[in-house]
Amino acid sequence: MPYENDEKNSGSVPAEPRDLHTLTHGELQELLSSLGQPKFRAKQIEEWVWVKNARSFDEMSNLPKTLREDLSRHLTLGGVTEVARQVSSDGSRKYLLRYQDGVSVECVGMPTKNRLTVCASTQAGCAMGCAFCATGAAGLTRSLTSAEIYEQVMHVRDDFNARVTSVVLMGQGEPFMNYDATLGALRRLNSPDGAGIGARHLTVSTCGVIPQIMRFANEPEQFTLAISLHSAVQKTRNALMPGVRKYSLVNLYNVMGEYVNKTGRRPTYEYALIGGINDTEPELQALCDFCEGTLAHVNLIQLNEVDGSRFHPSTEARAEDFVRRLTSVGVEATIRNSRGADIDAACGQLKQRAGH
Ligand code: SAH
Ligand code: SF4
Repeated sequence: MPYENDEKNSGSVPAEPRDLHTLTHGELQELLSSLGQPKFRAKQIEEWVWVKNARSFDEMSNLPKTLREDLSRHLTLGGVTEVARQVSSDGSRKYLLRYQDGVSVECVGMPTKNRLTVCASTQAGCAMGCAFCATGAAGLTRSLTSAEIYEQVMHVRDDFNARVTSVVLMGQGEPFMNYDATLGALRRLNSPDGAGIGARHLTVSTCGVIPQIMRFANEPEQFTLAISLHSAVQKTRNALMPGVRKYSLVNLYNVMGEYVNKTGRRPTYEYALIGGINDTEPELQALCDFCEGTLAHVNLIQLNEVDGSRFHPSTEARAEDFVRRLTSVGVEATIRNSRGADIDAACGQLKQRAGH
């Protein structure tokens, strides 16, 4: 089935050249018929754009030369420009990518033996203001379109020249403050007419925008959901994550119950351990209470240091205490090692260095 773009635009033959990435299937067909071309060309062109990530019309070798010229008169191919990159000793690569309007975002490719995970951004910056996060400190520049989110993944794929096996939307930005574009990107990543990545290998991480969690639960695809919890004590969470203060932990608990009932899928709770803040005994007890008896996986991560921040990571021993206690009350828990820490590509560190 042809993929329908989520961004609606009107008019078939644009006066100003439009980015081909923003055309729906129907609009592309209309443009082609106005150029006297058969409808099947739309599918060929979309394959160049979405599967092969063509960067110029000249690459589209199965199209007649005259059509390629016509297309380049009516459309642009948008695309991202790589402005900078850093390579970590663990093989991760962080890219600074710039869009046509000059706005740039970061994304990261993380290879392991047979896998390639991409961490992509959904917004340039973020308005949620979490106290421990480098992206939050910089504020929001703008939300990205679904094509812009998608293009990050294709850029990493082409750079590694390898199939992307999973995508986590854990770069800059809050995906659920940019819901439609995020879903559009996920669908394109999932589609056989796009990147063809299994829905379960596509993960959205949210700081907990409750109305959108329910909406996400009702989407037909089996996408994976991660919630940034970071504290199960209301007062602490309010201080750490002021952007979601209005969505209380009780409401979060309830909506996650509904999410599990509805989808049968296990959500992940992200918990960055911050020494003396959310790693104390009452905090551990509250976390156990929040998760006990629910379907949950707790991902513990040592806080990544952010320049100028008053927060510091816990000790390894404390992280192990957390795993032991959670396990003892029947809650799955693991300690996740952050990748790319030496290049500031680890969680919450994107956007840290001046000029990046
Ligand atoms: N806005 C979304 C997704 C992007 S952040 C969200 O908050 O979930 C991706 C993950 O990195 C989140 O779990 C976030 O809480 C975490 N994070 C942010 N700053 C961090 C830091 N300094 N150390 C460790 N994890 C951090
Ligand atoms: Fe935004 Fe997520 Fe950072 Fe919070 S942790 S400021 S929601 S990117």
